[in-house]
Amino acid sequence: MSDDTAPSIFSRIIAGEIPADIVFDDDRVIAIRDIAPQAPVHLLVIPKTDAYRDVVELAAGDPALLAHLVATASSLADELCGGQFRLVFNTGAEAGQTVFHVHAHVLGGGLEEGHLA
Ligand code: AMP
Repeated sequence: MSDDTAPSIFSRIIAGEIPADIVFDDDRVIAIRDIAPQAPVHLLVIPKTDAYRDVVELAAGDPALLAHLVATASSLADELCGGQFRLVFNTGAEAGQTVFHVHAHVLGGGLEEGHLA
């Protein structure tokens, strides 16, 4: 569970308080275009719950939701970048995580060799 008391930027997007380029939305996840894209297609797939800070917590707490997140990423990549993509979960500040509300980066559409988000 998150220790943070303030809602994350992603919770505020999910609540409709902050605009975003939403490409998918269902009862469990939302997918948006990253505001600072690192690839021609750069999406964030975000569970609507704010209960999990990172993918390790999500995998332990709700593996079905993690599976749904991955299936959503795959289906969006089919639609937007030919079905091939990189799925990145930055986990921990030293690994580059800046928003502690679990999210997957979906990167596709002509990646540079060795690129990481
Ligand atoms: P991470 O560094 O793995 O926690 O990823 C956070 C990502 O959220 C970064 O790639 C940011 O560019 C992205 N981001 C932050 N604010 C927004 C926003 N308002 N709309 C879309 N993407 C955002």
